[in-house]
Amino acid sequence: MADFKRIEDAGDLTGKVALVRVDFNVPMADGKVTDDTRLVAAVETVNALRQAGAKVALLAHFGRPKGEVKPEMSLAPIAPAFAQVLGHPVSFCDESVGEKAKAAIEGLEATGVILLENTRFHKGEEKNDADLAKAMSELGDVFVSDAFSAAHRAHVSTVGLADYLPAYAGKSMERELDALNAALGKPERPVVAVVGGAKVSSKIDLLKNLVAKVDYLVIGGGMANTFLAAQGVDVGKSLCEHDLKDTALKIDENAKAAGCEIVLPVDLVVAKDFAANAANRTIGLDEVEADEMILDAGPATVTRLETIMDGAKTLIWNGPLGAFELTPFDAATVGAAQAAGARAKAGKLIAVAGGGDTVAAMNHAGVAEDLSFVSTAGGAFLEWMEGKALPGVEALKK
Ligand code: AMP
Repeated sequence: MADFKRIEDAGDLTGKVALVRVDFNVPMADGKVTDDTRLVAAVETVNALRQAGAKVALLAHFGRPKGEVKPEMSLAPIAPAFAQVLGHPVSFCDESVGEKAKAAIEGLEATGVILLENTRFHKGEEKNDADLAKAMSELGDVFVSDAFSAAHRAHVSTVGLADYLPAYAGKSMERELDALNAALGKPERPVVAVVGGAKVSSKIDLLKNLVAKVDYLVIGGGMANTFLAAQGVDVGKSLCEHDLKDTALKIDENAKAAGCEIVLPVDLVVAKDFAANAANRTIGLDEVEADEMILDAGPATVTRLETIMDGAKTLIWNGPLGAFELTPFDAATVGAAQAAGARAKAGKLIAVAGGGDTVAAMNHAGVAEDLSFVSTAGGAFLEWMEGKALPGVEALKK
């Protein structure tokens, strides 16, 4: 994936306007931003473009207005919040296309910054409408895409603009693509994938892609129950998709053919109630009672994962190994995450984790800083793990 264009490839941008797609879909309460992580993530790109001499016009979506102007989904309150994070004034225009937006950008001082209104107020945005793309492209000279989290969508502001303007990856996008490429594009082997979470059904494509690419596929969480049940293990009243037995067996078969070892729990933590601090016991695979649920993998499983990590060069992780929101059923997730974090911090393992619950799990385990990269992009990260070409990334290769 090294073949995408970066900001440095744009050269001197003095007097030019950079149209920059960012992810400003931030959590808000009472008109105030409650978590500015996504705003902070855009700073480096904006500064790099200003340093190259460009004016910066920011494009973003907020919520799902579905092509209508919805005042409660205006980006107006984000401009002062971003200005504070950037340490530089950020003006706002209540349009993202047309004469009004053009005039607002022209009115900026050299290397000034402006946030344009929610791109999804236009019906053409989510349809990647060519007329809208052409009209929006007339606002700028170059297109910089910095929202990996939206790269799985072919919209005007993620893809269409690249048909009319030279397109470059912003700094956040660049970091994300470099990390993902290191983990699954051209990884150092052996590669371990850890996939957990509730259901196999939501991750079938992902499992199919991974067995063809990685050396070890660790399956945990509720998903592991489906694989164990397919192998004849009695899982009691555990979360389990019994109807996916054949799918699980087929994935097993594909893994064997591809030389990928599927690693399932070797011991289990079970309880009768799905609740924090429920009475529980740690048992072998053949000891689950009819009224018990498997809520976590046991310590022997974590030890096995540590051994696998010791022999691995690269690890990619999505999904918790158990019901990690409920103590003590977070133990396997936390144990394995800390093992990955320690090895990554010591430079022994490239470890990349991503997806909504996974970010929460890594934060809970206190290892988000130790891992090589943690992607906060949910859908885009999963589609990339599924091996799908992301339109917003393909657009940067032109
Ligand atoms: P996902 O969104 O598919 O990544 O699933 C994450 C959810 O799976 C978390 O809320 C976990 O609590 C849940 N989960 C993981 N393992 C189990 C399990 N053994 N039984 C029930 N829920 C689980």
